[in-house]
Amino acid sequence: MSALVTDSAQGRMASSGMVGVIGAGAMGAGIAQVAAVHGHAVLLADAQPAAVVRAREGHAAAMARDVEKGRRTRDDADAVLARITYVDGVDAASLAAFAPCAIVIEAIIEQLAAKQTIFSALDAIVAPTAILASNTSSLSIAAIGGACRHADRVVGVHFFNPAPLMPLVEIISAISTAPAYADAALALVAGWGKTPVRVKDTPGFLVNRVARPFYGESLRMLEEGLADEATIDWALTTIGGFRMGPFTLMDLIGNDVNFAVSCSVYENTFHDPRYRPSVTQQRYREAGWLGQKSGRGYYRYDGSPKPAPTEDTVLGQQIVDRVLAMLVNEAVSAVEMQLATSADIEIAMTKGVNYPRGLLAWGDAIGAANVLAELERMQREYGDPRYRPSRRLRAVAHRDGRLLDD
Ligand code: NAD
Repeated sequence: MSALVTDSAQGRMASSGMVGVIGAGAMGAGIAQVAAVHGHAVLLADAQPAAVVRAREGHAAAMARDVEKGRRTRDDADAVLARITYVDGVDAASLAAFAPCAIVIEAIIEQLAAKQTIFSALDAIVAPTAILASNTSSLSIAAIGGACRHADRVVGVHFFNPAPLMPLVEIISAISTAPAYADAALALVAGWGKTPVRVKDTPGFLVNRVARPFYGESLRMLEEGLADEATIDWALTTIGGFRMGPFTLMDLIGNDVNFAVSCSVYENTFHDPRYRPSVTQQRYREAGWLGQKSGRGYYRYDGSPKPAPTEDTVLGQQIVDRVLAMLVNEAVSAVEMQLATSADIEIAMTKGVNYPRGLLAWGDAIGAANVLAELERMQREYGDPRYRPSRRLRAVAHRDGRLLDD
């Protein structure tokens, strides 16, 4: 086993190991910035020279803002910028520069074949014990590792957007990942002030999987005409306490991106009906109504006033109960499937998607029996297995136990 993944070397890497980042888009540029701020020499490459230029300008602007706000001195900002080396292209000659890296984090386009090509090339360039990490949101880490001779050092290191600000990082171990490499990746990002959680190599990992019903059930209620977008958003923010309503959030994320994640989780769970995507969202994507970035999504972004919600608290509570029952069921199911520990599931949903409280604790506040009753009611009314309660939820409810401490 490499010195890199021993305890003392973890400490050394945390302060001085060279960090490579491939892909200089929104995520890669942000991850490179975090690593440089924490003292690492960073190499940042992209297939597109324009992306590298944008990343360099973005870093300069971020450091200038820090200086202006008094968060760091000009000298410190200059030192951070001087630690980043920008590399044009990902051909063999460019990638050869990554040979001394202790870890390379890939954040290129979300396509398995493209990622496998990069990993296979890096596998032959870096030391056999350097960590190769992917920031993929949805692809299997085992499949990415499958392209490498040394798959044991391939690990998922999933940051959230924007990487410099969002604290959560999912550390994903594939069946082929040696625990020491996942441990080293976890120690590294913890040293960067992030909050890492350990997650199994499962479709959508933790946050993107458990959060699906926030969007899916809201779309379903819209399709049924139970309430309009503004009312569902109002209910989940005002009564539910969520920071942003699902339709406002989908418009922010983009209906193309959000729909792609839903499809990926659905397909990769072999069509588990709980994750069935929405035809309505598909139509929005097809029409180019992607949300804020296209000027129109569920709402219009052309300066016209936002529609007013129907502020009916009885209807609002129905909406919240329905979405929460689905979300709590997902969290309990994640415990049951050992995707992560209960504590990490609570951290993931509060730090990764800003939920006002952990879903297991929230389920306990509602009462496991009440959550179960809501799911059983929907399952009875719809006859749809998307509402099936998890075995663990039933078990805890029947013995009047607690979901979090169970
Ligand atoms: P992006 O489109 O902003 O950036 C991707 C960059 O990769 C582009 O600059 C592109 O030129 C470059 N690229 C594409 N193919 C390449 C190749 N073969 N070699 C080198 N560079 C290549 O995308 P992003 O939002 O930064 O996402 C990057 C990765 O991070 C994806 O896997 C995505 O799923 C994941 N991710 C995204 C988010 C998010 O909210 N945007 C959050 C977490 C994870």
